[in-house]
Amino acid sequence: MSERRRVLIVGGGIGGLTAAGLLLLAGHDVQVFEQALELGEVGAGIQVSANATHVLRHLGVLERLASVSVRPLRTEFRLHDTAEIVSQILLGDSHEERFGAPYLHVYRPDILGILEARVRELAPSAIHLGKALERYEEGPDNVTLYFADGTMASGDLLIGADGIKSVVRAQMHGLEPARYTGNVAWRVMVPVEKLPPDFQPPIFVNWMGPDKHMVVYWVHGGKLLNFVGCVEKPEWTQEGWAINAPWDDLKADFVGFHQDVQTMIDAADKDNCFCWALNNRPRLEFWSTERVTLLGDSAHPTLPYMAQGAVMAIEDAAVLMRALNEFDDLAEALRGYEKARIERTARIVNESTEHARLFHFQTHDEFREAFARKDPARDRGLWLYNYNPLTVPIGAETA
Ligand SMILES: Cc1cc2nc3c(=O)[nH]c(=O)nc-3n(C[C@H](O)[C@H](O)[C@H](O)COP(=O)(O)OP(=O)(O)OC[C@H]3O[C@@H](n4cnc5c(N)ncnc54)[C@H](O)[C@@H]3O)c2cc1C
Repeated sequence: MSERRRVLIVGGGIGGLTAAGLLLLAGHDVQVFEQALELGEVGAGIQVSANATHVLRHLGVLERLASVSVRPLRTEFRLHDTAEIVSQILLGDSHEERFGAPYLHVYRPDILGILEARVRELAPSAIHLGKALERYEEGPDNVTLYFADGTMASGDLLIGADGIKSVVRAQMHGLEPARYTGNVAWRVMVPVEKLPPDFQPPIFVNWMGPDKHMVVYWVHGGKLLNFVGCVEKPEWTQEGWAINAPWDDLKADFVGFHQDVQTMIDAADKDNCFCWALNNRPRLEFWSTERVTLLGDSAHPTLPYMAQGAVMAIEDAAVLMRALNEFDDLAEALRGYEKARIERTARIVNESTEHARLFHFQTHDEFREAFARKDPARDRGLWLYNYNPLTVPIGAETA
């Protein structure tokens, strides 16, 4: 290690906690400041591919996470009404053998709880709750944080891992409102006992239809079926993940979809269907200064269509940890981190936006033709999943 740094991390999400754990392991002094009074997560699912599970293994949490997750056999891209499989990506053993680490379907509260426990194991008092950052001051020798409760903290370096509405980003680049992408997402969890026996094997299914698609997979050791329905809507004003929306609207949005989709919707708890706007922000030309940097959604929020938002945050954390170890000069380390990450994350964000079109054609033939031109099954192994943030060159551009 070059020098033991006093690292301040704002945001106790997947990105902030992964960075905290890795930097503690690397011997730094780390403090995490989270605005919420307890670390929790809405009950949604996420997919985590090898390009992130390498890092979770290094952090010492992969076995714990795998034991409460689901290791899917494959991804199937299906036509929304006939269930014809237009393409599939082999996961399971195939993913692990090819890329050296597993692909997991994870329940967000599980991964958050495991990351939090790991950080507390490494440094019992590193996490500070109820600390909403209002602003920071960057000086020649340190950076100082000012919180809404009137308290302050100082350190050598600030990592803004404070999500899509980042205060750190807003101070670095000026405040711009998030841009509505024209897509909303329904989020529903159905307990296994509410569904017919053997309802869906441990696979990821993407039901693709006109102007909308529905992704479905098991999480929490196969106890919960997670489904997310993405629908194009010209206007949407409500923000936040926990917006309860009428079940009737969900049902109406997916009229004409396959009977399996109807079965899931019918099995949903009608008082617990959530729908929220998918927002984006313009690409940043830089995300580091001498003592401040961004990580995860604060730096590069994305549409979720390649399932890589949290994965990118985990990749960022690993590359940042390595850059801090490799460079004596802090500003040089932050530049090295940013250089290694900026093109790759931009590519993922751009391709995720393009996937909205790939999943939303009008006719069966249009889907077949589009997948023949650009099939994720061919493409993703060539550049997405085969990236290992623990070994990529630091200070070089990698897309
Ligand atoms: C529908 C949907 C499906 C998705 N599916 C996947 C998937 O399958 N795979 C995947 O990899 N990604 C997925 N994502 C993306 C993923 O959820 C995000 O990219 C990821 O959670 C970002 O992590 P983060 O740590 O950067 O930010 P966040 O998880 O947003 O965490 C930010 C933290 O900072 C805190 N905070 C904010 N402001 C302040 C402040 N001023 N002071 C202190 N604390 C603050 C917040 O309370 C929060 O705890 C999906 C997203 C959506 C919307």
